[in-house]
Amino acid sequence: MRAYLPDCDLRVAATLDDALALLAAEPGVWTPIAGGTDLMVVHNAGRLKATRFLDLSRLAELRGIAEEGDCLAFGALTSFTEVREHPAVHRHFPNLVKSARVTGALAIQNRGTLGGNIVNASPAADTPPSLLAYGAELELVSPRGRRRVAYDHFHLGYKQMDLAPDELVARILVPKPQGHSFHYFRKVGTRQAQAIAKVCLAAHARVQDGVLAELRIGLGSVAPVPARARHAEATLLGQPVAALPVAAARAALLDDMSPIDDIRASAHYRSVVTQNVLSHMLRELATA
Ligand SMILES: Cc1cc2nc3c(=O)[nH]c(=O)nc-3n(C[C@H](O)[C@H](O)[C@H](O)COP(=O)(O)OP(=O)(O)OC[C@H]3O[C@@H](n4cnc5c(N)ncnc54)[C@H](O)[C@@H]3O)c2cc1C
Repeated sequence: MRAYLPDCDLRVAATLDDALALLAAEPGVWTPIAGGTDLMVVHNAGRLKATRFLDLSRLAELRGIAEEGDCLAFGALTSFTEVREHPAVHRHFPNLVKSARVTGALAIQNRGTLGGNIVNASPAADTPPSLLAYGAELELVSPRGRRRVAYDHFHLGYKQMDLAPDELVARILVPKPQGHSFHYFRKVGTRQAQAIAKVCLAAHARVQDGVLAELRIGLGSVAPVPARARHAEATLLGQPVAALPVAAARAALLDDMSPIDDIRASAHYRSVVTQNVLSHMLRELATA
């Protein structure tokens, strides 16, 4: 049954302090809403239990992309369009630009936010693999103060996160790559645009003296959460790029995934295609 809008209550927070006070006064009662591109779909389908929404969209404290020391700090309300268009994101994080470009279409990119993409916690979301590959950190805020969580420890299980009911994601901090580095992003969907990923793989690597000195691989759509490919990474780290152990890395990658069969792809398809994308990434790395 479709949702009945007059049953809902919407509060528009004017300041971050007001928003946090409301979340703390009635924990778990108020659902933060940013762009609404995930929540409104579920609401409209009558599948959202929440009826009280806290609109974050006017909170200047959660906006903007700024250089901060060795990091680029993204306010949680940063839209995909802002990610796509910001010169510093192009310079340092081409994978994030690519992720934002393939997220929905322009209307979704204008409204959808990075914070919403993270907290909606879909394993098939497009920016999480890139954020994992870049070693991002989240800054969470509550009336108790601010704390930081490494993004690769944030997702605890399917739609479960290290996020208390009175906490908001305030910023996403991404360390700027040092020196010459390699960036790779590949989303496999039914179409080039407006498709939910069947498989997604993002990687960031640094080669020193011909050896793979740094590597992070983020995976989407192949586990209950966006996940690091830690087994594959361990197989490859420290190896000469001219002779990477591709077969061993493909085998190790199977331990990084627990794909499911669903309407978009079979578990078998997801495993094989993720391995093939890994091979493609390693070929590009070897010739970069
Ligand atoms: C047609 C369509 C196509 C889409 N295509 C894609 C796609 O290709 N790839 C993709 O990844 N996604 C896609 N999406 C999903 C969606 O657009 C993204 O997940 C988007 O980033 C959600 O952001 P939002 O601001 O709209 O989130 P909202 O809907 O406002 O919120 C989503 C969740 O995050 C929580 N939340 C939001 N901000 C915060 C915060 N700062 N702190 C704590 N909690 C917060 C909300 O409470 C809610 O649980 C699509 C959606 C639609 C409708």
